[in-house]
Amino acid sequence: MLSTEFGNTGARVSRLGFGGMRFEAPEKTEEMAAVVKHAFDAGITYFDTAPAYCDDKSEIIFGTAIQEIKKTGRPFYVSSKTMEATPDGVRRHCERSLERLHLDAIDFYHVWCLVQPEDLSKRKAQGILKVFRDLKEEGLVRHISVSTHLEHGHIEAMLDEGEGLFESMLLGLNIQNYHLRYAGVQAAAKRGMGVVTMNTLGGGILMDYPDRYRQIIQPGDASILETALRFNLSLPGIAVALVGFRNSKDVDEAVEVVNRFKALSASEISAASDQLRSLYQEFCTQCGYCSDCPQDIPVVRLMEAYNRGMIKGVDIALEHMHYHWNSTDVPALLAACTQCRACEEECTQQLPILARFEEMKNAYAARENKKSLKG
Ligand code: SF4
Ligand code: SF4
Repeated sequence: MLSTEFGNTGARVSRLGFGGMRFEAPEKTEEMAAVVKHAFDAGITYFDTAPAYCDDKSEIIFGTAIQEIKKTGRPFYVSSKTMEATPDGVRRHCERSLERLHLDAIDFYHVWCLVQPEDLSKRKAQGILKVFRDLKEEGLVRHISVSTHLEHGHIEAMLDEGEGLFESMLLGLNIQNYHLRYAGVQAAAKRGMGVVTMNTLGGGILMDYPDRYRQIIQPGDASILETALRFNLSLPGIAVALVGFRNSKDVDEAVEVVNRFKALSASEISAASDQLRSLYQEFCTQCGYCSDCPQDIPVVRLMEAYNRGMIKGVDIALEHMHYHWNSTDVPALLAACTQCRACEEECTQQLPILARFEEMKNAYAARENKKSLKG
């Protein structure tokens, strides 16, 4: 298994990480813990979990596996997270995670889910950076980390806001959105931080629709999984790519891919990214040129959600806005649109953004209508 130094943390981690959000049978603790142990035996040493993953069972599964892994005496690293916004909440979550994980200290404890540019300053004003610092001083946390889906320069601004505390960053990045997020990787690497990617497989979308994405498979690669993993692991500054494993077969496939890893060159990286964008012209490429909405409507995020809707149905786009982007009231968001069409004028793909907004609004109204009829 490939391994690498993890920024300036002093840890040496496997380049393939275990993302603990996709266990196929989370209620079967022992069976799923065996998948984690299987991954460890195959050389994976970076394990990422969080409260709430897999109906709140992910940390418990890892905790069961960790009791076995500890017996080997070999090094391993565990990442968990909290999106609590108060010092008491952060401490309570950290203590609960430690108990569930059967650990004395969490290696990488994340300020979790920074989705809006103002999220960190709001939590900071409540004192969460102080409590993270306290937890580290008390030895309950080894490294303070941050997890984000921010884009472009927002990541660098967020790292500055972190007062130099963050030693590693977990970032949603893949072949589809790397042009939006890669500046963030560079900002983190410049600060000596370890960088881990989540959503390496596009939140599963690249794998779930192989017919749609088959054409992006790069020469020499056996599968979309190989292209997606090879893409992320070829980007300078990225130490670990997470894959959300469902079972031991998933682990074996990814381990095999990483074991024969050959880095893409800079020109191959940009060709792969350009190819993906040119193949799917009706898709929002997430280029971000429409970001300056005078009403602060998150057009890029709405169109990213709509991309998913085109594959899985528009309801999925609404779910994605809710659960991925923390936007619970999409109609209110869209109601602020003055239809000035500045976003459509800027759109590099000439997408009918307003018509897509309309479709999302109608889908939301239809869903609410259905709910009220049932009620
Ligand atoms: S049309 Fe709506 S979403 Fe687009 S820039 Fe104008 S106000 Fe913003
Ligand atoms: S300009 Fe068009 S393609 Fe680019 S992010 Fe906006 S909607 Fe997507």
